[in-house]
Amino acid sequence: MSEWLASEPLIIEKAEGNYLIDIEGRRYLDGVSSLWVNRWGHNNREINSAIVKQIENVSHTTFLGLSSPAPIILAKMLTEFLPKSLSKVFFSDNGSTAVEVALKISFQYWQNKGGKATKKTKFVSLKYGYHGDTIGVVSIGGIDLFHKIYRPLLFESYKVESPYCYRCAYSLNPIDCDLRCANYVEEIFAERKSEIAALIMEPLVQAAGGIIVHPKGFLKRISEFCAEYGVLLILDEVATGFGITGSLFAFEQENVIPDILCIAKALSGGYLPIAATITSEKIFREFLGLYSEKTFFHGHTYTANPLAAAAGIANLKLFRNVTKIKKKILVFQQLLTRLKNFPFVGDIRQKGLIAGIELVANKETKEEFPIEERVGHKVCMKVREKGVILRPLGNVIVIIPPLSIKEVELKKIIDAIRWALEETFKGLKGK
Ligand code: PLP
Repeated sequence: MSEWLASEPLIIEKAEGNYLIDIEGRRYLDGVSSLWVNRWGHNNREINSAIVKQIENVSHTTFLGLSSPAPIILAKMLTEFLPKSLSKVFFSDNGSTAVEVALKISFQYWQNKGGKATKKTKFVSLKYGYHGDTIGVVSIGGIDLFHKIYRPLLFESYKVESPYCYRCAYSLNPIDCDLRCANYVEEIFAERKSEIAALIMEPLVQAAGGIIVHPKGFLKRISEFCAEYGVLLILDEVATGFGITGSLFAFEQENVIPDILCIAKALSGGYLPIAATITSEKIFREFLGLYSEKTFFHGHTYTANPLAAAAGIANLKLFRNVTKIKKKILVFQQLLTRLKNFPFVGDIRQKGLIAGIELVANKETKEEFPIEERVGHKVCMKVREKGVILRPLGNVIVIIPPLSIKEVELKKIIDAIRWALEETFKGLKGK
């Protein structure tokens, strides 16, 4: 807050396509898609007109005890895009809530089943995992900087190492480690399966943890252990969903189907808040029965807001015609290599159109910059001088553009970062 008070905030008044426009009329390329949500650019004709059309019908009615066409259609469309078993959609209005709901559903699923299953009350989650900011999801979060102060308020969960190969917790090499970190999950399951309700993770990329891109096979292996030991698999695709990793959902790339899927952020194309927790008929059935015993007591005022749902429908329609993303991903990959030899760039991690550039004080030893030095922030402030908006995660520069980004705009981002790195570290040699 002190830093913010001392700064001159940028005030965005308008936006067009991939650009944000401030109150002085200056244009900035939206390199983080307005916090990883915007997929088709701002002021997209189809999404705008879907929202306007919906306003003319109704802007909001409750979804508690009533229903309305837009969320019904959106739920139907979502299930058409998803594997058959993911057939039941529970709406909410932000990513944290989508995950809170998944935790509560998975916990209650075992309670509703009764008998020995009621002992399954614990969760397994990954270090560096981020699932939002409410107390339940902070309990299964794994980022000390954000989460440690709240520890006295949190419920216990089992944390396993994440496959952060650049800084492997087991000091192994990903080429021949046989996914040691995934195998450890089996050890926990073997010992404690009778008390574990679910494992929750972000598939393929742990986003807020520093764009930690998982090695191939990690997700698949975890999903196999979940199936073998009777642990529900919750995948949090709040950040990775909707095309940004190169497939509509990240789990598709490893042929995995979760028991519960959490989506939010780009569900409306980045226009209005809406989220969903999607699960199977098998789980749904455990919630049928006596009102006082089986009901899932969870509902928010703006759940399934029709305007947000209308934006979601328009967004999903746009995914039907996606063609050029694969080529953009390749171009992005090539452009990122231009930053590789810079003295303070330790690691570059990319999956689809998500990238994280980890800055280090010493390339050889991988020594981190002290967090107080705010090097990521300083580089992003410099990048802004070149008309590009980026937001770092600690020492990691993050790029998550809209899918509508043009190749020349990707180059503009990389050129801006290169220049900003040179300016920020001017006179420093690096090791
Ligand atoms: N889960 C993941 C993977 C996220 O990246 C985020 C936000 O960045 C959330 C959950 C929380 O979403 P929200 O900020 O909408 O509550």
